Amino acid sequence: MKQASRSAGVGVERACTEVFRSAQMTVPIAKLSFWGVRGSTPTVDPATWRYGGNTPCLELIAPDGTQIILDCGTGLRTLGSRWAAPNSGKTLETHILVTHYHWDHIQGIPFFSPLYVENNEFQFYSFRSKFLGRDSLKQVFEAQMAVPYFPVDMSAMSAKRKFKELDGGDSFKIGENKITAHWLNHPQGCLGFRIETPAGIVAYATDNEPGDAKLDESLRKLAAGADILINDAQFTPEQLVTTRKGWGHSSWLEGVKVARHAGTKTLVLFHHDPDSTDRMVDLILRQAREEFDSVFAASEGMVVTLGAPGDRVQAHMPGTRTALRREAQFHAKVCGVTEAGKDFEEETVVRDISLQGALISLKHLPRLQSELQVTMEAPGGDGVQTMKLRGYVVRIDSGEEKGCSSVGVVFTD
Ligand SMILES: [Zn+2]
Ligand SMILES: [Zn+2]
Repeated sequence: MKQASRSAGVGVERACTEVFRSAQMTVPIAKLSFWGVRGSTPTVDPATWRYGGNTPCLELIAPDGTQIILDCGTGLRTLGSRWAAPNSGKTLETHILVTHYHWDHIQGIPFFSPLYVENNEFQFYSFRSKFLGRDSLKQVFEAQMAVPYFPVDMSAMSAKRKFKELDGGDSFKIGENKITAHWLNHPQGCLGFRIETPAGIVAYATDNEPGDAKLDESLRKLAAGADILINDAQFTPEQLVTTRKGWGHSSWLEGVKVARHAGTKTLVLFHHDPDSTDRMVDLILRQAREEFDSVFAASEGMVVTLGAPGDRVQAHMPGTRTALRREAQFHAKVCGVTEAGKDFEEETVVRDISLQGALISLKHLPRLQSELQVTMEAPGGDGVQTMKLRGYVVRIDSGEEKGCSSVGVVFTD
């Protein structure tokens, strides 16, 4: 299997990398990328596309070039397809920290193409499960690739793999970065990881539920003074005390409490419920932002920079609408909230627009899954503007208007 190049990334991502590289020359910068943010099971529901449907996988590039991957959910496959070996002169090894063995945290392993490349080296870390005993993670690998669950066995994985067992409280160094493992409250056990880099401290606390005094304290220690806390926010505060109590997960409100108590600068809401649509995650984020100053909802493709000038961590979102962009000159009124939390209203011009689809009234009845050429007209700054788009028919509702059908299209290139 050939190594793919990470340069296949979208423009915005590349721009961020360049900013990252130039800043790296002066101050230590760490880059944290979110490849999978969904909890429990991947989603392909279009209502979840903005935050993303892949299960947990994060990648941290420390200032010394050390590459650390956190969890091996289905997001690991995407990371593998953009793969570039770590660029540190000292080692080519990639370090992979696995929090626990639930499916959503291991499912990407068989689909991670760099594992099938002979020259790659991986050091895995996880805990000894009381259900599996010695070499738990290795056993998990073998079990998930055993016949008849997967077409090739472990012998096809030609990359060098080493496994290290960790316990809660263990602390060790990778390059100039210090890693500490902390137990979290989750069925069958889960480790949280605190990574101290010269650019800042990342605390990764996926799957955990509040309510166990000792483990709640363990979480606060994990997050103490961190620049960024990535915390389980799968459920709403209401669900957490009623229907989802004991399921091993947390809420945005619990994350805010921990962040406040532990003096964390930025909170990232993580492990979104597979039943949470983008609008539901939007609401969760809005509520959290009312209670805590610096909060993001983890989003697939999001890149967070630590150590860049300024107090806060900086987050960049991936470019998502490069394919369907059309130039326009539409007058528009824009209302919103400033970074400082003030409402604003402004008259402006929309300069380009990307559309996903439209609902069109037609006297003719087009065939489902056929193509329509759609030319739209809109009043612009200097006369009428036209916009030409190709629509793919996804729905036809007849009879709503007399002699007309409502035709739903999504726009394609
Ligand atoms: Zn999980
Ligand atoms: Zn879990």
